[in-house]
Amino acid sequence: MAGVQLVNLTKHYKRGSEVIRALDGVTLKIDRGEFVAVVGRSGSGKTTMLDLLGLLLKPTAGSLVIDDVETTRLSDRERAHTRARKVGFVFQEYNLLSGLNVLENVMLPQRYVKDGEAGKRRAIELIERVGLSDRIKHRPTELSGGQMQRVAIARSMVNAPSLILLDEPTGAVDTETAQQLVDLLKRLNREDQVTIVLVTHDLDIAAQASRQIRLKDGKVLADEMVGEPVPA
Ligand code: ADP
Ligand code: MG
Repeated sequence: MAGVQLVNLTKHYKRGSEVIRALDGVTLKIDRGEFVAVVGRSGSGKTTMLDLLGLLLKPTAGSLVIDDVETTRLSDRERAHTRARKVGFVFQEYNLLSGLNVLENVMLPQRYVKDGEAGKRRAIELIERVGLSDRIKHRPTELSGGQMQRVAIARSMVNAPSLILLDEPTGAVDTETAQQLVDLLKRLNREDQVTIVLVTHDLDIAAQASRQIRLKDGKVLADEMVGEPVPA
């Protein structure tokens, strides 16, 4: 079954004799095509959960199944392979390469998934879908924050992942730009049935997801279906 399943997913860090329970036994299921907002105070474990979902971190304990694959048993090589094909990332700081233009940035994840001309066509189509066709040869320094985040969103989708993970993607832009980015995500979510997990501090944004998961001290404090995301 397509989707993500976490069972008792746990990430502990040791600092001297102290154990930091960054994520502390989270069990939940996210179906394909859901739009999930993850909220909670600073330090509640949001980024840790996202990095575990994206296979950037290895859990201390528990199980994480992505599209029927038990990821905790994969070798490093298999994890990297699964990450490249299944997961797209978007960070608050965009993380674009300043020496590359928009098209080259969007195509970057294809290094690991050789799609040739079809891949390039997909990159161009995504740039069009995020509304940046007229900026395709521009460098990131020539773009606004909102435009850079659109590039990052296109890049996250270029390998047709089943899951897009966004960590505070609107944290560095103004309210209106943030809303435009959320509208874009809603549209991509609806059109491609891509699962979205979005970490945010902004409750107005979280309220637009179809589900809200609230973390506290590494545990799920609340998990509510908000209903269908409002069409963009
Ligand atoms: P959030 O994203 O909600 O602000 P994080 O997932 O970044 O929270 O962090 C959760 C907790 O785990 C915090 O107490 C943080 O200090 C701790 N933590 C995160 N990463 C590490 C690490 N690499 N080493 C030690 N502690 C960490
Ligand atoms: Mg964080």
